[in-house]
Amino acid sequence: MERTLAIIKPDAVERNIIGEIVKAIEGEGLVISAMKMLHLTKKQAEGFYYVHKDKPFFDSLTDYMSSGPIVVMVLSGENVIERWRKLMGATDPAKAEEGTIRKRFGLNIERNSVHGSDSPESAKYEISYFFNALEIVR
Ligand code: UDP
Ligand code: MG
Repeated sequence: MERTLAIIKPDAVERNIIGEIVKAIEGEGLVISAMKMLHLTKKQAEGFYYVHKDKPFFDSLTDYMSSGPIVVMVLSGENVIERWRKLMGATDPAKAEEGTIRKRFGLNIERNSVHGSDSPESAKYEISYFFNALEIVR
């Protein structure tokens, strides 16, 4: 059993498609072990995405991620990091496979509706960024 951090990003919350995304997650057999809604400050968004601090898109990305509410979730299951990345689709919705969340709902390479950890190490950092042990309930 593995855990990963999933985020429903501001573009999706704003368009009232939280339910569509949760439905896709549950439909794929991924278990939601923790969930809450937050509105990050710019500083909190920068801390979450610190690995990208030297990228040209960092300032715009952290502006966007602090522009409105997000839903953060811990997902659990066998091989869940890879399974959630596959269900999300490629970073650029234009390049994402048919049926993936980013293909269905993503607006552009920045406003791509969802986030998923990319490794066990980043999952550990990202889960602990938002949740303490008492908040992870299944
Ligand atoms: N991003 C962007 N421009 C790019 C690449 C990424 O705005 O050229 C944003 C996008 O929202 C992406 C996030 O930065 O989801 C993190 O980038 P990463 O390469 O880690 O993609 P992901 O792991 O989310 O697929
Ligand atoms: Mg990433």
